[in-house]
Amino acid sequence: MKIAIMGAMPEEITPILEIVGEYKTTQYANNTYYEASYKGCEVVIAHSKIGKVFSTLTATSMIEHFACTTLLFSGVAGGINPSLKIGDLIVATKLSQHDLDITAFGHPMGFVPGGSVFVETDKELISVAKDVAKELDKNFQEGVIATGDQFVHDTKIKEAIVKNFGADALEMEGASVAVVCDALHVPCFILRAISDTADTDASFSFDEFMESSAIISAAFVMKMVDKIIE
Ligand code: SAH
Repeated sequence: MKIAIMGAMPEEITPILEIVGEYKTTQYANNTYYEASYKGCEVVIAHSKIGKVFSTLTATSMIEHFACTTLLFSGVAGGINPSLKIGDLIVATKLSQHDLDITAFGHPMGFVPGGSVFVETDKELISVAKDVAKELDKNFQEGVIATGDQFVHDTKIKEAIVKNFGADALEMEGASVAVVCDALHVPCFILRAISDTADTDASFSFDEFMESSAIISAAFVMKMVDKIIE
């Protein structure tokens, strides 16, 4: 087994690199990949850069070039479901691209021919997460994550995303990573800690809490790795 551990921004993988300790750095496709042996298991760590295109490139590279066989994503998200507070964890059961729009042709939002509105994540990895949560006495919520190429800081956009997808949280990379994993038959796990609530003060909240929330998510994902390889 070779585990890909991915974030979008440097702050999302720095805590992971600190836990792993020693690694080899490889440049590939305009990005840096950190390869390590963590407790005897091969891991490849990278931050993709923000958005669907960069995260697609990184997820694909980790699977096709670095031969990873499982992918875990760790990062931060804007909360939609009012029960999600800053620092709370959400695990995606399924994800959708909220900005994929060919509704002009009568299709639902998020749908293109040959694709599907939602892509599911791996149920076994979610069950591993439940075991980890029990051991850490730390709760997470399972739910729908909506992904798009925009930082949402507007309640009207949030409401539209809820109406179209029933989403609990939103971010900018999860659905594209899930599409890659689904197509290449690699189990996928998407974890996010809430950094803001995607309304007017979202950018301030993000700046204040992004780093602490990224650490919460990274710590949880590394416990997942411990559990997967034990
Ligand atoms: N401050 C950064 C930009 C952050 S973009 C800069 O200046 O470089 C937001 C990042 O956090 C994305 O990777 C996205 O996945 C996640 N995210 C957190 N809150 C979000 C929100 N309200 N809308 C969209 N993405 C959000």
